[in-house]
Amino acid sequence: MANKLQSFIVTAIIFLLTQATYADSSVKAIQKKLSELGYQPGDADGIWGKKSEAALNQFLSSKGLTFDGKIDTNELELFEIFSFKYNIDDSLPVAWIDEFKNIMEILQEVLPVDKNFNKYVNKSTMDIYAWNGKVKNPFFEKREMSGASISGDGKTRWMVLEIPENEFKYDSLHRYSVIVHEYFHVYQIGLSKDRVDPKWLNEGGAKVFEEMFVQQYYGRSSLRGDFERAQLWSDEVFTNPKLYEKFETSSKETTDGWMDMNYAGSAFIFLTLVNELQKQSISEEEAFQLVFRDFWIEKSDESDWEKAFEKTFKINIETFYERLSEYSRKDIKKILPSRSLKIQDIFN
Ligand SMILES: [Zn+2]
Repeated sequence: MANKLQSFIVTAIIFLLTQATYADSSVKAIQKKLSELGYQPGDADGIWGKKSEAALNQFLSSKGLTFDGKIDTNELELFEIFSFKYNIDDSLPVAWIDEFKNIMEILQEVLPVDKNFNKYVNKSTMDIYAWNGKVKNPFFEKREMSGASISGDGKTRWMVLEIPENEFKYDSLHRYSVIVHEYFHVYQIGLSKDRVDPKWLNEGGAKVFEEMFVQQYYGRSSLRGDFERAQLWSDEVFTNPKLYEKFETSSKETTDGWMDMNYAGSAFIFLTLVNELQKQSISEEEAFQLVFRDFWIEKSDESDWEKAFEKTFKINIETFYERLSEYSRKDIKKILPSRSLKIQDIFN
């Protein structure tokens, strides 16, 4: 009896541990793939159970392979499931690393990267390199990288996250929002098949999304503050928005300040569009769905972004720019996203 009880407890503990380790988006993706291929892994709930393992074993033995007992890169590559590989330098604080993993988990759950993205990386895996800017770039294989970006060499692409020491010192949420920002670019590239113009929809979207994310999870955001700092963006947003369609014409420093520092100008145009869309009697959630997601899907088979714009938003770009010219810096409050808005309500 005692033995039986003991073994039950041991089994229960092992089961819990297994669940905790495997309950993630990779498991969910594998379960979905197995179902698609005609196996029966049970519900795609992200929890690795007996059914899932039996289905995986069936699949593997059909290929003359056996399961090594651990869901990792091997399995993901085999199913051509997109995944990230984390290369995180220990110059970063443990607290940041934990948050990084949490944030990536939420993002992959709420807005998974489209399988199109596999085309742009080797073996359906994208490396993320992260380190604290107080040390020299510790990754010898990629000496030239710095700052934060999605970079590529024609063969593959990777994410660069060099986090400036000051962002820890002054408790800047940018140390987290930058993760969201760069992830969002991967999302856009996947959906649009790498057709990521115009700049104000691309960078404006990434900026607004990262700020909505930190507002939801950390209770504050620098969006409003950025809009209120006149030096960060130019009035050409209202008079000549075409400049914001390209990086080359919108990243300059002028006598009045920057054209688009922190992408504040792009974000303003972006949120003005969301505001205009809501006048077509669509909800705030739906309007954000159109700008964050549907526009990029439309672009995957429409290389002319102005056409994709009109198809998605039912308004042409000239008309939109005319409406934009009626806005001013006084309209900041009018265009800020509702604080109660959750990203889960947008990408459902
Ligand atoms: Zn960006």
